[in-house]
Amino acid sequence: MSTAARLRRVAALGRLAVGYSRHTMSRLVRRGGWGGLAAFDALYRRDRISRLTPEERAALAGHGRCIACGLCTFAATRSGYLTAERLPLQLTRSLPEVWATRDLALDSLDWAAAQAVCPTNVPLGQIRDLVITRLEADGVLPPAPQLAPAVLPVPPARRR
Ligand code: SF4
Repeated sequence: MSTAARLRRVAALGRLAVGYSRHTMSRLVRRGGWGGLAAFDALYRRDRISRLTPEERAALAGHGRCIACGLCTFAATRSGYLTAERLPLQLTRSLPEVWATRDLALDSLDWAAAQAVCPTNVPLGQIRDLVITRLEADGVLPPAPQLAPAVLPVPPARRR
C-alpha cells in the first residue's frame, strides 16, 4: 500500500471515529431529556396506559393463567354482574378499559374462597387489588374522545 493510500485510510478512519462519537453523544443526550419513561407518559398516559410497578409486572404472568373453568364462580357468590371468573377473563384484559369496573362491588366477593378452588392458582385477590390501584391512579371517567393522536415534541437538538 502506498503512503498516499495509507494516509487516505487514516483520514477515513478518523472521520468515521468522529461521526460515530457524535452519533453516540447525541443518543445519550436524547435519552436523558426526551426518551424513556417521560416519553412513555407523554404518549400513553391520556389513553390510560400507565406504568406498572415492578411487583405488578412480575404478577402479570399469573393473571393470564385463567382457563375459564368457572370453578371460582361457584365458590364465591356473584354480586350482580360481577363474578369471580369475569375479573381475569373480561374486566382486566385491557389496561385502558379497567375504568369500566368502577361501579362494580369489588369487595363484595370472597376472593380468597374463589382463589382457593382455582386449579391454575390465578391470584384473584391480587388482580382485584390491581384494579383498585388503577382506578385510584387513572380515574374512573371514560376516556375523552381524541381529536388528534398524541405525538412527542421534537427535541430542540433535532430541529433544523
Ligand atoms: S377457577 Fe381459576 S381458572 Fe377457573 S375460571 Fe376461576 S380464575 Fe379462571
